[in-house]
Amino acid sequence: MATVGPWICDVCHMEIRDISKCYVVWRYGEAEGYHDFNIIHQRPLCDNRPEYTVSLPVTDFLGPDGLAHLLSFLSEGPVRNLNPGASSPMPLSDPDGFVDFIRRVQTPGYEYARCRYHDSDVRASYAGATEFHPYTQAAIKKLLAAESE
Ligand SMILES: [Zn+2]
Repeated sequence: MATVGPWICDVCHMEIRDISKCYVVWRYGEAEGYHDFNIIHQRPLCDNRPEYTVSLPVTDFLGPDGLAHLLSFLSEGPVRNLNPGASSPMPLSDPDGFVDFIRRVQTPGYEYARCRYHDSDVRASYAGATEFHPYTQAAIKKLLAAESE
């Protein structure tokens, strides 16, 4: 469990086996900024919602350079901030949704673990957990191992 993916398409709910056909789409609204990040198959059946006006290949969000890209949504960082008149990052109206997206592309095992977080047994087992413990590699590994038993 050292790598991220494969992903489950947010439209058809099938696994995306070909990473070259795996895209991230999201919406932009003047009031909301960027929001509603979805991971989808790049094919007519799944990529047919005109309200999702922004898209990039999932590979743009993987690894250390992908993390650099993701973090630029939150802060443009010290280099750009040195430029007078530099714009601020686009506001994100749904930080929980954005963090879920970050975990999907950066945290190994999270894609399948997240399918279980609403199950009552999993919720009960995490009652009293810290904010980050359920998303650690040890917790995700334990959850996925229990599922395959
Ligand atoms: Zn799909």
